[in-house]
Amino acid sequence: MRTLLFFLVVLPLLSFSQEKYPTDDFVHPVDFPLVISGTFGELRPNHFHSGIDIKTKGVEGLEVNSIGLGHVSRIKISLWGFGKALYIDHPNGFTSVYAHLKKFSPKIEAYIKKRQYEKRTHQIEIFPKNLDLPIKQGELIAFSGNTGGSAGAHLHFEIREKKGQIPLNPLLFGLNVADNKPPTVQAMYAYSLKDSAQVNGSERPVKLKLTRQEDGSFIAQKIRASGTIGFGLVAYDRLDLAYNKNGAYKVTMDVNGRPHFTYDFESFSFSESRYINALIDYGHYKRNKQRVQRLFRIPANELSIYKDTRTDGTLSLEEGMTYQVKVEVRDFMGNTTKVIVPVEGGKMEVLKREEITQTDYFLVAGRDNIYEIGPTSIYFPGGAFYENLYLDLEYNRDKLKIHNGEVPVHKNFTITFDVNQYTVKERERMYIARYNGKGRSSYHSTKKKGNVFTARSKTLGTYFLAKDTIPPTIEPVNFRDGKWLSKFKYLKLTIQDKGSGIKSYVGTIDGDWALFEYEPKTRTLTYNFNDLELRGAKHNLRVVVTDNVGNSTTFSSVFFRKKLDGP
Ligand SMILES: [Zn+2]
Repeated sequence: MRTLLFFLVVLPLLSFSQEKYPTDDFVHPVDFPLVISGTFGELRPNHFHSGIDIKTKGVEGLEVNSIGLGHVSRIKISLWGFGKALYIDHPNGFTSVYAHLKKFSPKIEAYIKKRQYEKRTHQIEIFPKNLDLPIKQGELIAFSGNTGGSAGAHLHFEIREKKGQIPLNPLLFGLNVADNKPPTVQAMYAYSLKDSAQVNGSERPVKLKLTRQEDGSFIAQKIRASGTIGFGLVAYDRLDLAYNKNGAYKVTMDVNGRPHFTYDFESFSFSESRYINALIDYGHYKRNKQRVQRLFRIPANELSIYKDTRTDGTLSLEEGMTYQVKVEVRDFMGNTTKVIVPVEGGKMEVLKREEITQTDYFLVAGRDNIYEIGPTSIYFPGGAFYENLYLDLEYNRDKLKIHNGEVPVHKNFTITFDVNQYTVKERERMYIARYNGKGRSSYHSTKKKGNVFTARSKTLGTYFLAKDTIPPTIEPVNFRDGKWLSKFKYLKLTIQDKGSGIKSYVGTIDGDWALFEYEPKTRTLTYNFNDLELRGAKHNLRVVVTDNVGNSTTFSSVFFRKKLDGP
């Protein structure tokens, strides 16, 4: 009994005191020095960056190697997000992830192509068994690329805790990245939060006047404030070998020499990533394209990045007292930039009151809310919003205005349109669209049932019923009808749909399904002649493209190919 107790009590302590993350187990995923254009936790639209972006010299096709021994546990090919992505499970309890790949190594490429042809799909997700694709440390697994939601050639690389697939900062594992420059503080703001708060006589956010000191730190001009206030920070970090603005690793705030608030990017979970919109001043971001990180936590914010939860970061000021607020911004290597903000508790005459526009639609964030306006209705589930607000809702000239895009939405809300006034025939080609400004709009996946159209969204704005009667277009890129293509490696076509957008496509050669890889960024379909063994010389190509409301176009062409001599 005594022994058992010993283990129960001491084992967790022992494992905790050991290194949490092994720094010698893994090698680099590329065989050139790591230059990073995106850090872990970096602030991105609606999410934190879950890995590091490794620069690939501006080109695609560089070799990507496994960082450790293990086996391929997941292969996913998607038009969006990670594009072509590979996951490797390692025996030490971690998973490495490699994304936006151009293609996989020959052994993995053959494995996945077989399944794509079996399932007749380009987009696919496979979880290979342990023994299917064993991988050695340093083994070539793929070639870098620019697939999915990537805006330039690079390798997105992650390390996750295998259990729960929790992304961890890859730099914790001993990767070698040169960084001797401290983070840059671009701006700081003071926010009036509650208890009739004001800063320098203003109830609106006040930009602090920062003066750079010789040692690189900043001192803010003293502010006079009362009530409960908070601070906001705009900062980025630049590494030695790249000009890119990366995210910082850690932010701490002390008040009068005592720890007050801190967060860092050691890890977070995917399920909480959207709370980035509760960390930043979302309205400011939408208006100014600048992300102010709030050094206080609103109650709805459930991020786990906060390390010291004794306070929520706000500061309740007392008349006549003085406070010294020290904010330190750190990168992963420990380079630090410091900002001192002297604060004096006291009121000034408020020249400009912060006015809240009241409407008929007051929303309580914690509750479900339904609004019916004209032939439409909107359903917001509880927790869709972070804070209570007066919604600006209006139905006018067939357009439904749902507030404006400056307020973040955390959960999907549902929009319905009554389509009674349209004939059944008309409804077939109609869908719910959101107005994007400048005459442009975006398709929202529309469910049609009886007289009602329904769509779900996480973006506020103006919605309307759009119509698309124009079928997609299909154009050959590198060939023409009736030609000999014996030496061609690929067939390429471009496909496009201007209204509702492309929903699906099917390509066949001589009646057999053929894998056409689709790259939405260039609207290109590509077939690889190595995939199928074609018999005879004359071949029939057929490509059918269908848009989101069912308009479709068929492209047919004949080509000839001489059977080339074998090796
Ligand atoms: Zn990335």
